Amino acid sequence: GRGPGPGVAPRSRLTVVSGPSGVGKSSVVAELRRLHPDVYFSVSATTRAPRPGEVDGAHYHFVDRAEFARMHAEGELLEHAEYAGNCYGTPRGPVRAALAEGRPAVLEIELQGARQVRLAMPDALLVMLVPPSWDALVSRLTGRGTEDPEVVAHRLAVAKQELAAESEFDAVVVNADVPTAARELLTLVLPDPSNQECT
Ligand code: 5GP
Repeated sequence: GRGPGPGVAPRSRLTVVSGPSGVGKSSVVAELRRLHPDVYFSVSATTRAPRPGEVDGAHYHFVDRAEFARMHAEGELLEHAEYAGNCYGTPRGPVRAALAEGRPAVLEIELQGARQVRLAMPDALLVMLVPPSWDALVSRLTGRGTEDPEVVAHRLAVAKQELAAESEFDAVVVNADVPTAARELLTLVLPDPSNQECT
C-alpha cells in the first residue's frame, strides 16, 4: 500500500486508524494487538449498549448520557463524535500517559474524531483502512445479513463519504486480508529509527 509520502513529518507515536463501517477495522486492530502487545490501544467511552461478549472497560467504557456529558464538560475527552445515534469519545488521560511512557498509542475511531485529533495533535499519524474494492465493501455490509436494507443503505452512504476523505489521511492501508493489513499497519505504528529528526 501507500505509506506516508515524502514531506510527511517524522513518525509520531499516536496513530489514528479510521475507515468505513464494514472495512474490518476491529479485526485488523485486534490482529495488530496480537502482533504487538506493547502498543497502547485506547478504550473509548460510549453511550451505546454493550453487544454480546463485550466487556466494560475492555472493549469500551459503557457510560450513560449524563456521564458522557460530564466527561466532555470536564475536558476529559481528546475527541468525541456521534455515530448512529450514540456518543463515542477517547479518554485523554490514558493516551497521554502511554505516550509519556514512550509507548505507541492507537485510536480506532470514525472520521469526525480523526479530524479532531488532527487539529488537537498535529503530529498524529492518520491511517485510513480501505476495502480492496467498493464491491467488496458492499458485499461485506450486506453479507452480515442481520441488518435491514435501509440500515445497509445508510451505512453505504456514510461509507462513501468516509472514503472520499482519503486525501486527509497520511497513509492508506488496503484490507484485502487481515494479517497483511495488520502487518502493514504495524510498520506505521512503530517508530521507525531511520525516520527520526537529527537533534
Ligand atoms: P461500534 O459501535 O460499531 O463499536 O463503533 C461505531 C463507530 O464508532 C466505529 O466507526 C468506531 O471506529 C467508532 N468509534 C469507536 N470509538 C470511538 C471514539 O472514541 N471516538 C470516535 N470518534 N469514534 C469512535
